[in-house]
Amino acid sequence: MPELPEVEVVRRGLERWVAGRTVADVEVLHPRAVRRHLAGGDDFAARLKGHRIGVAQRRGKYLWLPLADTDASVLGHLGMSGQLLVQPQDTPDEKHLRIRVGFQDELGTELRFVDQRTFGGLSLHDNTPDGLPDVIAHIARDPLDPAFDDEAFFAALRLRRTTVKRALLDQSLISGVGNIYADEALWRARLHYDRPTATLNRPKAAELLGHARDVMNEALAVGGTSFDSLYVNVNGESGYFERSLDAYGREGEPCRRCGTPMRRRAWMNRSSYFCPRCQRAPRSAS
Ligand SMILES: [Zn+2]
Repeated sequence: MPELPEVEVVRRGLERWVAGRTVADVEVLHPRAVRRHLAGGDDFAARLKGHRIGVAQRRGKYLWLPLADTDASVLGHLGMSGQLLVQPQDTPDEKHLRIRVGFQDELGTELRFVDQRTFGGLSLHDNTPDGLPDVIAHIARDPLDPAFDDEAFFAALRLRRTTVKRALLDQSLISGVGNIYADEALWRARLHYDRPTATLNRPKAAELLGHARDVMNEALAVGGTSFDSLYVNVNGESGYFERSLDAYGREGEPCRRCGTPMRRRAWMNRSSYFCPRCQRAPRSAS
């Protein structure tokens, strides 16, 4: 599943290749890809047609295309395997092409939503006064957002009776930090995933937030991380940041700081990777 840096790479691609173009026609090739658009595929196509697409926006892992001259946006759900590709019109259809968007210009490219497992899709939503699709109004800002409020985040950590990795993945508190980057940030901060947030002092919380920002910015710098061979960015290139991960996926390999074999633990239907020496379990959890 793509994380924030991958989604940002897609957003940048859309900004470059799609912004300012006017939709000529929309072809929905699989009804599941528009199932979140409750009025159906024909309505989805009709409401996009003739509208100019604005600059692609992102909050956390959510990506949307504002429609100029309306208060609505097209929300893209990449799901497990969704891809937004800008392809020359004469490129043969991908096997799992679900939605095609053509444009009223002579650039010769079209936008394609391709999704093998069809967990993803596109849907049109009204915007909130802030310009967010209304269905994601509850999603907190992400740590790469210049308007992210660090102090409010630290205060929320102190007040909540939760553990640090749960807090990092709580989209109403901080968005866009997925499982992989949470493990990386916790390893860098030498924090165990089950550490109660109330026990983090402000400097430690600030250090953790700084590491989360760093690891995501580093991933962005190399074009996102690919953990799923199905993931490619808007131009069809796979990310390659996974080669430089320190924690995620490294079970049994030596910790890059102390040499202790890294461990993996089942955690909320996912996995947590950590160094048992650098990231000591809190007493209550051990
Ligand atoms: Zn270690």
